[in-house]
Amino acid sequence: MSATGMGGRQLHEYHALSAQEAAKILSSDQQKGLTSAEVTNRLEEFGRNELKGKAGKPAWLRFLLQFNQALLYILLVAGLIKALLGQWTNAAVIWGVTLINAIIGFVQESKAEGAIAALAQAVTTEATVIRNGQKSRIPSQELVPGDIVLLTSGDKVPADLRLFNSRNLQVDESALTGESVPVEKDTTTLSADTPLAERVNMAYAGSFVTFGQGSGVVVSTANATEMGRISQSLEQHTSLSTPLTRKFDKFSHQLLYIILGLAAMTFAVGLGQGQSWPAMFEAAVALAVSAIPEGLPAVVTVTMAIGVNRMARRHAIIRKLPAVETLGGATVICSDKTGTLTENQMTVQGIFAGGNNFSVSGTGYNPDGEILFNQQPVDLESNNFPTLKACLMAGLLCTDSHLEQKNGNWIVVGDPTEGALITVANKAGWNQSEMAKLIPRIDGIPFESEFQYMATLHESHESLEQAGDGARTIYVKGSVEAILSRCQQMLNAEGEAEAVNEELIEQQVEALAREGMRVLAFAKKAVPNKQNSLDHEDIATGLIFLGLQGMIDPPRPEVIAAVRACKTAGIQVKMITGDHVTTAKAIAARIGLEKDGKVRAFEGRQLTEMDDNELTLAAEHGVVFARVAPEQKLRLVESLQSQGEIVAMTGDGVNDAPALRQADIGIAMGGAGTDVAREASDMLLTNDNFASIEAAVEEGRTVYQNLRKAIAFILPVNGGESMTILISALLARDLPILSLQVLWLNMVNSVAMTVPLAFEPKSDRVMKLKPRNPREPLLSGKLFQRIAAVSIFNWILIFGMFEWVRQNTGNIDLARTMAIQALVAGRIVYLLSISHLGNAIFRKLRGKTTRISDGKSMAFGILCTVLLQIIFSQWGVMNTLFRTAPLNLEQWLVCLIPALPMLPLALFVNRIDPAE
Ligand code: ADP
Ligand code: MG
Repeated sequence: MSATGMGGRQLHEYHALSAQEAAKILSSDQQKGLTSAEVTNRLEEFGRNELKGKAGKPAWLRFLLQFNQALLYILLVAGLIKALLGQWTNAAVIWGVTLINAIIGFVQESKAEGAIAALAQAVTTEATVIRNGQKSRIPSQELVPGDIVLLTSGDKVPADLRLFNSRNLQVDESALTGESVPVEKDTTTLSADTPLAERVNMAYAGSFVTFGQGSGVVVSTANATEMGRISQSLEQHTSLSTPLTRKFDKFSHQLLYIILGLAAMTFAVGLGQGQSWPAMFEAAVALAVSAIPEGLPAVVTVTMAIGVNRMARRHAIIRKLPAVETLGGATVICSDKTGTLTENQMTVQGIFAGGNNFSVSGTGYNPDGEILFNQQPVDLESNNFPTLKACLMAGLLCTDSHLEQKNGNWIVVGDPTEGALITVANKAGWNQSEMAKLIPRIDGIPFESEFQYMATLHESHESLEQAGDGARTIYVKGSVEAILSRCQQMLNAEGEAEAVNEELIEQQVEALAREGMRVLAFAKKAVPNKQNSLDHEDIATGLIFLGLQGMIDPPRPEVIAAVRACKTAGIQVKMITGDHVTTAKAIAARIGLEKDGKVRAFEGRQLTEMDDNELTLAAEHGVVFARVAPEQKLRLVESLQSQGEIVAMTGDGVNDAPALRQADIGIAMGGAGTDVAREASDMLLTNDNFASIEAAVEEGRTVYQNLRKAIAFILPVNGGESMTILISALLARDLPILSLQVLWLNMVNSVAMTVPLAFEPKSDRVMKLKPRNPREPLLSGKLFQRIAAVSIFNWILIFGMFEWVRQNTGNIDLARTMAIQALVAGRIVYLLSISHLGNAIFRKLRGKTTRISDGKSMAFGILCTVLLQIIFSQWGVMNTLFRTAPLNLEQWLVCLIPALPMLPLALFVNRIDPAE
């Protein structure tokens, strides 16, 4: 294929070409796909299949936006006025500090955004392609024009495709056309002027398959797709905004108005008292600067970003930042069973066929093991047990999965349930690929949770007992309910058909399910030779029941501890599953899901009949919901939410998307699960493990707790400073701290001390408390009392130290410097009292075990603080810039004294409002 030929492909209206013509133009083959060599060439020519959107805001703009805060406006203007007043150093320092602050903010924000964006991108989607005549899964980015792609429900369409095969294919194109009703696809050739939304023979990148299957040839990739054309005009942007940050913004705005009012008042009152205007201007600026917690926004961003990183390390990838906050408040977790609470490592252990019970030895997908009857290995070469053979054959043929050997271990490619069925057939001595050649498959209906069965149509083979010569056979497997209702007959021990004995079968199902086994039923049907395709109607009735296979799927060991941790933390855990109620109950009991000593279980069809009140009761009291359909998941979430619960819900299917969106935290699986579910989710589990949800909740709570610590730490300093300035100004006394010094305290000093709070390890208490009430304001009553108490202490400390030193020495600069150093000393004590480090030291002193090393970043922050404070008063340059005075050793020691009473105060407020 010449490059020019392919280059011209953009000109083609593929919907107006037949599928054959399209494939020809793209030099591809519908059966074999492209060759590896061709793929390499085209990858070079067309590049990777990735959307390159417009870059976000340029860095310089994002940097300038750092100044877009009311406080910074005030500072810039204050600097300007100071400059006009001729106070050049003053002005320069104000601007300098503002600049440093903006740089720090910029760096932190960029890092946080980068980290979050990188996480989201780490989650790649895959596509099923045919290349070199073989089916394989590849990352969607590696697709090239001409590739043959297979689509199945739940997939995200990876590139623009001209379809050449559609089996009830339906596609949701809302991302492209805004139309939310899925479009039914077929393969007919259309006229060239058909508008995009009506091109039913195309599947466009960025849309989702909601139903059916199909295949097509890739006609364009990356930015050449229709989606690429739209997204070039969209900006790619990671938002750092969450409900909490918006609350903060609102809080700082309100605060700002109060401050400006107070500052204006101070200014007016002072002038009225006959004070000088520069003095009053200084007081007003100092007040404004002192009252606004400028360190807070940065701490919020950093804390969130660290939370996101810690969650990722524990296998939970946040897709939407607000989930970090919501997770900490979760009250109910609704989890899938299979693969999330259990290992999804299925092993068939019990078979019921032809009225006989068999057991199976061996573990995993390794073919070593035997089928036993009355403890004796059965001989399948003989003509005994024909029904057992038919049942095993159904499990081997009616499947979309296969086993592979990797590094000596057998693994399933596909569905573990099917892997188990193939394994047991291997134990019987059959080989899947040989059997597939001997009895070829003509058509199939893949498994979907919605129908609970799968069926395949096969060529006949004389080695098998078939009903009628030359007839073809349909094999069906699925849930007992789905299969049994379609069967009128069953095979007895001799392989002869007789009337179905439902009671006997139900009994056998119960017996297997009570052991926690997942039970599948098998059936077959003979159809005439001329039948070439398979539809749901073909198996609506007239099936012959072959038997049951029961497989164990052990609970994940770590789940038991995670469930216990959730319970201690006041979080309910509920199992929502498509599996049989008895199986689900048995597993629930094993992992300790019971509530008030009972495992209350409901079935999907019971829920359907309930009115809203009954459903609410069931949702609150039940812990197992079995045979649940996706619509019912949605109703369950809604009824839990109507009771004020904050619901985390897992899902993996196409139809789970509405429930995932409705849940406060929608959780999708990174491993299993469909692209549709992933797109609808707030969080992804990279290991599909329930324990990771519990871990994420833990981290979410820690984020919230660390934010609360930051507030508890920062606000009392603002409180103390502004009280000092307000009162001194109104009393017409000299200010104990100047605006510049306030800037130092609130920006430089605060950053060194509060950023470590974002890195605080989780406390032991974090999973022992009840979930926080989401309606409770951030500044709760207790937190407010704490802040008020420490603020007053800080005021006394600054004011007292300043007045005392000034009266004794008459040196106002020295008095201010000592007041500031005393404040910082008190601050360190207070910081230790709310941090892990302080707590750990305290425990160590009392001889208890603890991990002091977790307080490393805090210790580092305090060390930096001390060094900065020494520079602040001892270095001549700083003396000029900030009007400070050097202290001698004695004066340093004096500064430490007022910090001592902080300890009992801190311990006291910790009792009102526990911090660690
Ligand atoms: P869950 O994943 O919650 O256990 P599913 O919706 O996957 O539930 O499965 C529901 C029921 O469908 C299972 O109990 C089983 O009987 C049946 N089933 C599961 N997987 C398959 C499959 N691959 N083929 C046929 N039937 C299946
Ligand atoms: Mg499943």
